[in-house]
Amino acid sequence: MCAGHIFEAQLTEGAPDYNLDHEFDDANYKYFGGALVRIVLKYAPMTKRLGFVKATINKNGRRLNSADIQFLAINNRYEYTYEQFLSTFLHELIHVYMLQNVSDYNWYGGYHGNEWQRMADKISSQSGVKITAISDGTDYVYDKSAVKEMIVLIAKMKSGTYGIGFTTPAIWNKNKIEWEERLQTRKNIMNTFVIKTVDPTPLKFATKFVGSPKFYEIDNKSLEDFMANTRKDVIANIKKRERA
Ligand SMILES: [Zn+2]
Repeated sequence: MCAGHIFEAQLTEGAPDYNLDHEFDDANYKYFGGALVRIVLKYAPMTKRLGFVKATINKNGRRLNSADIQFLAINNRYEYTYEQFLSTFLHELIHVYMLQNVSDYNWYGGYHGNEWQRMADKISSQSGVKITAISDGTDYVYDKSAVKEMIVLIAKMKSGTYGIGFTTPAIWNKNKIEWEERLQTRKNIMNTFVIKTVDPTPLKFATKFVGSPKFYEIDNKSLEDFMANTRKDVIANIKKRERA
């Protein structure tokens, strides 16, 4: 169950610094009459969502008997304006409120049904922040124009499969001499293409590496699509160095 909004999101170097505990207390007081029960709040990297509420649900048909919330997470891979942050956070808090009061709702229309929408509309007008409902899974659309330039590594593995990893140009430039050396001698890698692009496809497959190149498996079809469709510059092809 969870959430997302379409807005201009940007690849970021670090977590947004809005204090979740403070924001929770503030929103609870202003929009929920203090009725929200405290839950675990955290930032976490996610590929498809801006916000997420993890809960164990006991269901009977569409009706919920009980819900046990584990945490609320906000994606920290993007830069948010305060308004964008709040829109996501309030969206999730409405889920939290409904899950903490499961028997007050009929849950027609699921997690973003009319009951959710009514509350979103009310809080939108109170706060002046537009809170939107978009269905799960498909709710997130990358705004390509807002994604910053990335360095993407495509590794051909000895096994014949491919791996993908990405980082920022600044991190790559700082470490590339050492990392190129390391890639040349990794046993399981045949060669590695280094690509500069703004195409956000890698975000779907990998998380950003910092300390050392890190690869995630990518299927051939997705890789072909990425290589064929993306606007990119191949800046290096690092080949395996045979040891004498
Ligand atoms: Zn949602």
